[in-house]
Parts: sequence; structure tokens; C-alpha cells
Amino acid sequence: MNDPGTTQLDALEFRRQRDLILAATGDGIYGVDTAGISQFANPAAARMSGHTIGEMIGVNLHDLIHHSRADGSHYHGHDCPIHAAAKDGKIHRVSDEVFWRKDGSCFPVEYVSTPIWDEGELVGAVVSFRDITERRKADRELRESEARYRAMFEDSSAAVILVCADTRRIKDTNKQTDQLLDYEDGGLAGLPADVLFVSLPGDLARFFDKVVKEGGAETEALRCRTKDGAAIPVRVSASTLQLNDGPGILVLASDIRRRTQAEEHARQLQSELHHVSRLSAMGEMATAMAHELNQPLSAVMNYVQAARRLMGESSGEKALEYMDKAISQASRAADIIRGLRSFVTKGDAQCAFGDINEIVSEALALTLPGAEAAMIGLRTEFMDELPPVLVEKVKIQQVVVNLVRNAVEAMGQTPQPGLIVRTTASEDGEIEVQFCDRGPGLTDEQVERAFQSFVTTKQQGMGLGLSICRSIIEAHQGKMWASHNPEGGAIFHFTLPSICEEDRIDA
Ligand code: ADP
Repeated sequence: MNDPGTTQLDALEFRRQRDLILAATGDGIYGVDTAGISQFANPAAARMSGHTIGEMIGVNLHDLIHHSRADGSHYHGHDCPIHAAAKDGKIHRVSDEVFWRKDGSCFPVEYVSTPIWDEGELVGAVVSFRDITERRKADRELRESEARYRAMFEDSSAAVILVCADTRRIKDTNKQTDQLLDYEDGGLAGLPADVLFVSLPGDLARFFDKVVKEGGAETEALRCRTKDGAAIPVRVSASTLQLNDGPGILVLASDIRRRTQAEEHARQLQSELHHVSRLSAMGEMATAMAHELNQPLSAVMNYVQAARRLMGESSGEKALEYMDKAISQASRAADIIRGLRSFVTKGDAQCAFGDINEIVSEALALTLPGAEAAMIGLRTEFMDELPPVLVEKVKIQQVVVNLVRNAVEAMGQTPQPGLIVRTTASEDGEIEVQFCDRGPGLTDEQVERAFQSFVTTKQQGMGLGLSICRSIIEAHQGKMWASHNPEGGAIFHFTLPSICEEDRIDA
């Protein structure tokens, strides 16, 4: 049998230790009897609720700290899970309620109410609770941040592909990827990343290795592969990131089809312009020949005809026969030259409807790319909604290129260069394009003569550019002339007939 003194000491020691444990724990703990009256409470419970321990013992704690729900509505004691544990003997866990402080404010809690049994009899419940304000806040922030990243992921204009760095398999893709590559929503997750790219063997693996090694990389050497196997040119930039379950690679692929198409278009245009300038070079020669040879050939014909007359009076049949041959050869030469000239002006015309503003801007972009345009002070004043023109585009662009080059050359020594390229429409339906430069301008004589072949002020000049330009414009039923710029400099003008709707239908 135990000594009663020892038993009493043991009980005291037990209580002391229990109080130490209760004081040390960070969770709020209190006990209630089956009537809901509190038997004890620890310091954490008191600190969190703002009451003293004394205020928390011997009272109905539901009424003290659990009386209302988060929305302020009354919380009946008979609905309280804490009391329920002391009545039904079951453990009740709750994580979406609030406890109320002495100052009238409340805080979100998570609690467990555990029944207390004493020799088989239910005598009450012990409640352990914790303030989950911080956890809620952290959860909310995590959710918000996830939502933010998800939105960035989904709203990105690029295809975003998340790849596992170890297995190189796709973990996630955004809508853009699915749309770009014609996959159903999420149908790509789990597949090897190779299915999305067309590349030379080993290229994709090498690219991913580089990303992993250097933390990020970019390339335009890869192409995305649609579900049907078509290849789409893309610009890929990728970087590494840490995912919950290991390292990942975030791949952004932007569709550059438009850019490559535009580049291809520019390349084509450039090669057409080169082609046309080669043709022009031939044309220049032809025009020069036409101009230069016409007179001597006419002279040949005149002289031979005269000689024929003279010889006819005095000489034999053979001489006459040769004279006739000379005449027919000379006239054939004249025909050839006429043919050459018409080759330059009319050429093998492939006319199409076009917007003069587009035709001019394209040629400007090619002649004066970005910085050069700024240096020369290029400004365009295009009239909106001009009627279409029916032209051989590259030839008109050749005219634009020539006029712009001339203006740029003329302004070589001009301290403040400026070039306005203007498009307008006259009332009679003609479209006029003007090139107004701020160079030295033209003398009255030059205004008249600049378009004649071989008129040049340049040491290296041939003096043929403007004459060819005029031939091209005239072949399009337009006119070309020069005038003085009232602000100083020269203005070169050309017109083109515009095409009205009825003409279009007939054309
Ligand atoms: P080239 O450039 O080979 O001389 P062009 O027929 O293009 O042949 O030009 C003929 C001449 O017209 C040029 O030598 C120049 O004297 C004059 N000219 C052309 N454009 C301009 C301009 N914008 N300003 C002043 N003079 C010009």
C-alpha cells in the first residue's frame, strides 16, 4: 500500500509537471466539463483570447470566446463541436471557425476537442486550438501568387512549355501552345519534349543541356512541330527553374512566321529590284543607243539614198542592188533600236492593282532603312484612301529608288537635309507622287533638261536615270517633271492614272 504522504507528493509533482507542459506549449488548451464549464486553461489560451487565466476558469467558455460565427451571427452552444465531444464522446476537429478576443475582435482557429474519460465515464473535453491567421495569410498569398503565375502562363502571347529538366518530358503547356500546335487542351503533358520540335538530331538535347548549364539560352534554330507534323519557325528562349518535384525548364516559343514572311518578302522585293536595275542597266544602254544611233542611221539612209539617185543616173545594176541592201539593213537597224527602246519603256509588263502608298513606302524602306531615313530627314505625307493604281510595281519602285537616290546625292553637302515624299490625288483622278528635297535645287535650264539622256552634273553620272524614269512613267500613261521647291531645293513629280471601280471591273 502506498504511503498517503508519498501519494500526495506524487499528485503535486504530477500537477506541477502538467502545468509546466501546459505553460510551455504554444497551442491554447483548456478543459470543460460536460456542462461546458471550463476547468482549466493554459497561458497560451489566455494570451490568444486576451483574457486572464482566472477569467477563463469556472465559466462557460463557449459564451466567452466562441459565441458568434465569423460573420457575426449567433453560435448556439448546443451546436458547438467542443461541447459535443464532452457529450458524444467523439473527437471533433474544426478548422473554419473563429474565437473571440476580449477586445471584441476575432481570429481564425483550428481546434480539436477530445473527450475526457474517467474510469469509463465521460467527464468533459479538452480543447487544443491554434491561431491560424498567419497560415491563412500565407495560404492566400500562395494562392494569389499561383493565380498570378498561372495568369502569366496562360496569358502569355508566346507558347509556354514547362519541361522536366531530368526526363525532358513536358509537364505543362499553356493555351497558346495548344492553339499554335493544334493540340487538345493539356494533351501534351507527359510526352517527351521532342514531339514539339523539329530539329536536326541532337539539336534539342544540346539546346536543353546549354539551358541547364548556363541557366538560360535562346535560339531560332529550332522549329515547333504541329500535331500534323508541319514546322513553324519560332524564336525559343528557355530558362531553368526549381519546381516542387525537381528542376524544370521553362520554354517560351514565339511564332516568327510573320517576321520570316516579311523578311522573305523583302528579300524577294530586293531581288526583283536588282533584277529590274539590271534590266534598267540594259534599258539605259538601249536608250542611249536609240538616242545616239538614230541620227547617224538616218544620215546613212539619206546618204545612201542620195548615192543611189546619183549612181542610178550613171552606174550599173550591181551598184544599185548593193545600195538597196544598205538601205534595208539600215532600216532594219533602226527597227531593232526601236524595239530595244520599247523593251525599256513597256517591257514585259506585268501590271497589277496596287496601293501607291504601299508601293512607295516599300521602296523607301528598301532605299533608306531606319537610321538612314532619319539622317536624311525623311518624312512621308501620304493621302489616305487613294484609289488603286494599275502598275508594274517594281518599275514604279525603281523610279522611287532613283528619285530618292538623286535627292540623297544632291543633299550630300546640305547641312540640314530634308526629304518629304508626298502622295496626293487630283480632282480628275490622277495620283501624284512628289519628292521634295532641301538640296541645292535645279536651275531653270536643268528643270527643262534634267530628263534628257546624258544630262548630268556628276563626274560618275551617266545622266540616264531620269530619262529612264520618265520613260517608265510615260509607259504607265503618267507624266513626270521637276520644279523648284519654294522652301529651297528641288521637287520631282510623277503622276499615274488612278483606277476607278468601273475600270477595275472592265480591266
Ligand atoms: P545621273 O544621276 O546619272 O546624273 P539622272 O538622270 O538621274 O542621272 O540625273 C541627271 C541630273 O539631274 C543629275 O546629274 C543632277 O544634276 C540633276 N538632279 C537629279 N536629281 C536632282 C535633285 N534632287 N536635286 C538637284 N539636282 C538633281
